[in-house]
Amino acid sequence: MKKANVAFFIPHVGCPNRCSFCNQNTISGKNRVPSVDYIKETLDYAVASMDKNVLKSSEIAFFGGSFTAIDKKLMTELLACVQQYIGENGFYGIRVSTRPDAIDDEILSLLKKYRVTSIELGAQSMSDDVLLKNMRGHTASDVFNASNLIKTHGFSLGLQIMTGLYGDTADGAIETAKKFIEIKPDTVRIYPTVVLKDTYLAKLYAEGKYNPLNVEETVSLCAKLLNMFEENSIKVIRVGLHDQPSLKENFVAGAYHAALGELIMGEQMFLKALSALKEVKIENGEVRVAVNPSNLSQMIGQKKCNIKRFSDIGYKVSVKADSSVKIKDIKVI
Ligand code: SF4
Repeated sequence: MKKANVAFFIPHVGCPNRCSFCNQNTISGKNRVPSVDYIKETLDYAVASMDKNVLKSSEIAFFGGSFTAIDKKLMTELLACVQQYIGENGFYGIRVSTRPDAIDDEILSLLKKYRVTSIELGAQSMSDDVLLKNMRGHTASDVFNASNLIKTHGFSLGLQIMTGLYGDTADGAIETAKKFIEIKPDTVRIYPTVVLKDTYLAKLYAEGKYNPLNVEETVSLCAKLLNMFEENSIKVIRVGLHDQPSLKENFVAGAYHAALGELIMGEQMFLKALSALKEVKIENGEVRVAVNPSNLSQMIGQKKCNIKRFSDIGYKVSVKADSSVKIKDIKVI
């Protein structure tokens, strides 16, 4: 069912940490907590203008800094002010993002009371070494424990993974993805590391001690992660940071590209098509593949890059849109 969550960004206010990559004001493009008046005005407009079916499956989201680590009074004020927009003729519920060590039974009971439906944890890595090197201030077992508690309390669970962190490798990210799959979250977001001004990573980069993955390396790794999650029926709801003017202004190095998600899905479709061709033992020559119309541009690739790649390895591929083909499937004709 179609969703259109309405998100409010709560900047760094509640977080006891300063992770190596974090410059929350830049990531969210916001540097102040939204006022109750602003939230209500935005939601009044959303309720009046959104399709009713979309509205009833959408959530009001509090993203950004760690929501459950902010001052309890502010947290309950924010939760209370959106209550009138939930339920009949309103939104499905509330979605919040937080740190794994800012979750316990008491907080979860409070969130339940205020009709929170989904909780996303910024897990980032399941390697304690990588977590320590990036000053996350929590361990992989905190992620396991918080995830179990969230599921036991009946919330939808989301996990966020970062690729290219200081001290991490492509194999390390794949290990993290395997541990996520053991946890069985409902959703995952994949965030490639971008080095921003005024962060510890920027300092390490300037000192020559850290080199983030570039766009090409990120595309190749994230396409594999995307496949792993989707093959295990875990929905990936975001790949790459939201493109914000403040990101461009504060960019230092790393995997920043306005269409990163598209590039990654293009890579994923290329790999899927290649394996479909191998499966039917077509090693080269002229071939026609059909994909769902929603995957047509990804299959062709930006500036026809996938068609060119196929040509480089001996295939002359033409692509047809066919709505009978399932999303992300490949049919060799
Ligand atoms: S936990 Fe989140 S908000 Fe806190 S420093 Fe890390 S990235 Fe920033």
